[in-house]
Amino acid sequence: MAKVKTKTKRRNLRLKWKLGIEEVATKHFDVSPNAELIVREGNYQYNINDLVKRFGTPLEVVFPFVIEERLNKLIDIFKYYSRLNKYRGKFYFHYPMKVNQNKEFVLPIVSEGAHIEVGSVNELWLVKRMWEQEQFSRQIKVICNGPKTNKYLGLIYELKQKGLDIVPIIEDRYELNYLSEYKGELGIRIDPEIKVQSHWDKRIDRFGFTRRELLELGRIRNLKILHYHIGSQITKLEDMIAPLRKVMEVYIKLKAMSPTLDTINLGGGFAVPYIKRKIYSTDSVVKRILKILKDLSDRHEIPHPHVIVEWGRHIVAPAQISIFRIIAQKPIPKSVASWWYVIDGSFINDLPDTWAIHQKWHVVPVNYLTAERLSRVWLAGSSCDSDDKYAGHGNYISLPRLEDLEQNGKPLYIAFFDTGAYQDSLASHHCLLSSPAKIIAQNGVITVARKRETAEDVGKLFGW
Ligand SMILES: *Cc1c(COP(=O)(O)O)cnc(C)c1O
Repeated sequence: MAKVKTKTKRRNLRLKWKLGIEEVATKHFDVSPNAELIVREGNYQYNINDLVKRFGTPLEVVFPFVIEERLNKLIDIFKYYSRLNKYRGKFYFHYPMKVNQNKEFVLPIVSEGAHIEVGSVNELWLVKRMWEQEQFSRQIKVICNGPKTNKYLGLIYELKQKGLDIVPIIEDRYELNYLSEYKGELGIRIDPEIKVQSHWDKRIDRFGFTRRELLELGRIRNLKILHYHIGSQITKLEDMIAPLRKVMEVYIKLKAMSPTLDTINLGGGFAVPYIKRKIYSTDSVVKRILKILKDLSDRHEIPHPHVIVEWGRHIVAPAQISIFRIIAQKPIPKSVASWWYVIDGSFINDLPDTWAIHQKWHVVPVNYLTAERLSRVWLAGSSCDSDDKYAGHGNYISLPRLEDLEQNGKPLYIAFFDTGAYQDSLASHHCLLSSPAKIIAQNGVITVARKRETAEDVGKLFGW
């Protein structure tokens, strides 16, 4: 009887904190019998509260197995629907490096069969290093986006000559001109001129050629890829599909002029369920993509194009959590929330999208998960900036009441989910705070990826 009771209790706790749910990317999270947050990787189990005791806070924990699992699932889904629909084009996943360039993210993803998309010369330089050190397959394909400076073009030419399968994407007429001498395959970027719901979908887009401009260019030698990227974190299924239909119509016309064209690249956009509400499924998107491509190409009697997606955020965001300690509380007069909880890190510095684009995150306690009484709180970062705060995805966050925990003597820790995309390279040192330490949990082993910065380390960055 007692056992049944604890089982129900744990199930209720999982529901309450939205843990253990595949569709919202919390599948690996659970509550331990002593009410602490745990993460399961097969037979291994990581107790986050123990990691915090060992490594301190603020702390980032990376789970490479999550990256591997998510990528394999995506590849399998494409395989499944290709076979089912007799789709004859191939599928390639290109990891957009700007989502997270850290080694502990890039190496697992390329080792599982991802290709790469870079947006700058320095990202390409990392690819060169990995390639020279044979850290990935010689068959890897690299796509180059972003404005092509002379240095960037130089490195593209160098790597092409050394035998890397590298395709620059032409962004404008200048690049078309520079790349007219390029001996390898080329891609070109189209602005689909369609509006979708996403922070990045501006009224006026500066990337790529319009449909009209493209069709006026005539034949492009060695053209292989028609590429578009409409934005990131696109939360509606229809918005994932509508641009493709439009771009596929242009593809058909372009292919008539440049018959070497054989690939369509949909860019990024697949959303992450940050606030733990279900969004569209991978199945539903992949099914629709392949159907559109197949129907249109069959109707126009052209081969089914190869398909590239660059859904980096979708694959890597859930592979990292960020943990903070609550170091103080202060009453908030006259508001929907009652307390400020001050964390020992900074949103502006360590989760900069909170500040930049009002990113929403799922927050759960790391310990005291059974606490019955919760306070409505806003979180404050420990910089001296009034913008350094996070108020949840409603009007407040519910977290255990500190009064109830105080006699216990153990501080409250909280975890932010899905912090693996974009935050690291945008991070900064406002008020000269130190960056969080970062550890990697894989195969039951913990390794330190980044030590906690000392005052001396931070001072050095500023010329001291
Ligand atoms: C930023 C970017 C991506 C990444 O999109 P996400 O959906 O955020 O992963 C993909 N492709 C291109 C060209 C980009 O600029």
